[in-house]
Amino acid sequence: MEPMRGDLVVKGRSCEDDRCKQGGSKVWFCVDCDSGFCEHCWDLQAQHKLGKVARDGYKHEKAHYGMLKVYQDILQPPATPGQLRQLHDDDTDTLWFGVTKDESGVPRFEDHGRYASLMANSPSTSGTNTAKYPQLVSFVGVTNAGKSTVVKMLIDRHKSNDPDSMENDFPSPVVGSAVNDRVPTSGDVHLYADPYTFQSRTPRLYADCEGLEGGESIPYGAQSRKRTDSFSNSGKLKKHSAKRLQGRPRNIAWADNDLRRKREYTVTELYPRLLYTFSDVIVFVLRNAKTFQSAVLTKLLQWGAAGLEKSLNQPTLPHAVIVLNATEMGIEEEEWNPKTATASLLKSLSTALDRIGGVPELQDLANTWRSERHTEIRTVRDLIERYYASFTVVRIPAKGRYTLMDKQFNSLLQVINVNCRESLETKRRARMLSNTDEWNIYLQAGFDHFTSNLDTPFNFIEVSLKNNPLPENFGDHIRQLATAILAVYPDPKKTSGQWIFENLGSMVASCILLDCVQYRKGEQY
Ligand SMILES: [Zn+2]
Ligand SMILES: [Zn+2]
Repeated sequence: MEPMRGDLVVKGRSCEDDRCKQGGSKVWFCVDCDSGFCEHCWDLQAQHKLGKVARDGYKHEKAHYGMLKVYQDILQPPATPGQLRQLHDDDTDTLWFGVTKDESGVPRFEDHGRYASLMANSPSTSGTNTAKYPQLVSFVGVTNAGKSTVVKMLIDRHKSNDPDSMENDFPSPVVGSAVNDRVPTSGDVHLYADPYTFQSRTPRLYADCEGLEGGESIPYGAQSRKRTDSFSNSGKLKKHSAKRLQGRPRNIAWADNDLRRKREYTVTELYPRLLYTFSDVIVFVLRNAKTFQSAVLTKLLQWGAAGLEKSLNQPTLPHAVIVLNATEMGIEEEEWNPKTATASLLKSLSTALDRIGGVPELQDLANTWRSERHTEIRTVRDLIERYYASFTVVRIPAKGRYTLMDKQFNSLLQVINVNCRESLETKRRARMLSNTDEWNIYLQAGFDHFTSNLDTPFNFIEVSLKNNPLPENFGDHIRQLATAILAVYPDPKKTSGQWIFENLGSMVASCILLDCVQYRKGEQY
C-alpha cells in the first residue's frame, strides 16, 4: 500500500508542497514559512514570488536545515536558572585560569591545567616530525555582547552536517539566557579546542574571557565552580579535579591593598596582559558599532600599550578582529564584506586624533609614539598597527537570517585562518615558534611573572634561555649540534650515536681547519 504523503514528510528533508513530484531532490528550509521546499516548488510559493518580502523587508531566505538547527539551538538558551546552572556545572572542566578568593578575601590566581589536559588529548599527527604548534585565539568584550555565543557558533557549526548526532566531542561555551542578564555569564577564562584544526599540526585554541569591565558580582560560571569545589571537599565530586592536571595556586603579590584585591582590578589588569602576550589573534565582540570608540578602541590600545611595554622580545604582535554582533538588516549589502566593514569603521574614527574634538586617550598614545619613538602617526589605523599586526571588522547578523549568519561566520573563520597562518610564519621566521611543551613553559612563566609583578616586562628570550641555555664551551656546542641532527632524523634505527658522529666528524674537522686558516695562522690551536 502506498504510504500517505504525510508519513514521509521529515522536517527540512522533504518538500512540503502537496503538488510536489520530485521527492528526492534537495530541499531548502524557509524560516519565514516554517516549511521545506525543493528547488522547483520554492519558486511556486506565493510568498517567494518576485517582490515579496518577509517582515524585516528582505526576501525569504533559503536555508540548509542542519545548519539552521545548530544556530537556532544556540540562540535559544535554556529557559530556567536550574538548567543554566547545570550547564555551567558541566562547563567547569573547560576552565583554564581564574582568580578565587580565600576565606580572608585575599585573591589567588589558579591555573586549572586546562591547556595541559587539552593538549594531552590532542591526537598525534603522522609522519616523522610529530611536533605540534598550538595557536591561541582570545575572545574578549563587554558582558552580554554575545562573546560566548560567537565562540560557541564557531565550534558548533562543525556539527551542522550531522545535527542529529548527539555526541559532543568538542565542548563549547555556555550561552547566557535572559533569565538573569545583569550577571555576566561566564567567569574567568575558559579554553576550548577548535574542531577544524585540533587534529592538525597547528591546533587552534579558543579562549573565552570574562567580560572585561569586571565588576564584583561573581559570574554564573564562577559561582558554579564554587559549588563544585565545595562538593569536592566533601569527597562527592572528586573526579572533577582529578581529571585535570591542576597547576598550583599562585599568590598575587601585587594585590596589597583593597583596590588591588578587587576582582575587577584583577580582571582588567591581569587578564589583558596575559592574553595580549600569548594570543595570535584577539577577537573583540561588541553589539553596537557606535560604542566602538568608547567601549573598545581605547581599551584595545591600552591593552596593547600595557602588553607591548610589558613584554620584551614578544615574537609577534597579535592580530585584532572586531566582531560587530547582532547587526540589524538594512545596512548596505557591501557592509557584509569584511573589507568594506573595516574601511567604514575606520572612516567613522577619522576625527579621533584631531587636535580639537579628538579623543584625549588616543591623542596621548599617538603623542607618545611621535615624541618618544619618532614614529609618524597620522590616522587611527597607524596607531592600531603599532599594537596589532592587522585589524579587520566582521559583521554578524541578528538572529533570523541563518544563511547570511553562516556566511558571515565563514568569513570570520577565514579571517582567523589567515591571521593564524601569518602569525605562525612570523614566529617561524623569528625562530620563536613554540611546540606544545615549550608553549606551556612560556605560559607558566607568564603566570608566575604577571602574578608577581604587573609593571616589569615579561621577557620571552630570558625564559627561552633559562630552558635552553646557550652552550658555553666547544664540547657543549658539538653536543647541541648532535641534538639538532637527532631532531631532524628521529628514526632510531638509522640515527645511532655512532652514525651521528661519523657524519658530523668531517664537517666539524673542516670547520676547525677553516677557523685555523682564517683567524689563527701560526697560532697554537
Ligand atoms: Zn517540491
Ligand atoms: Zn518562505
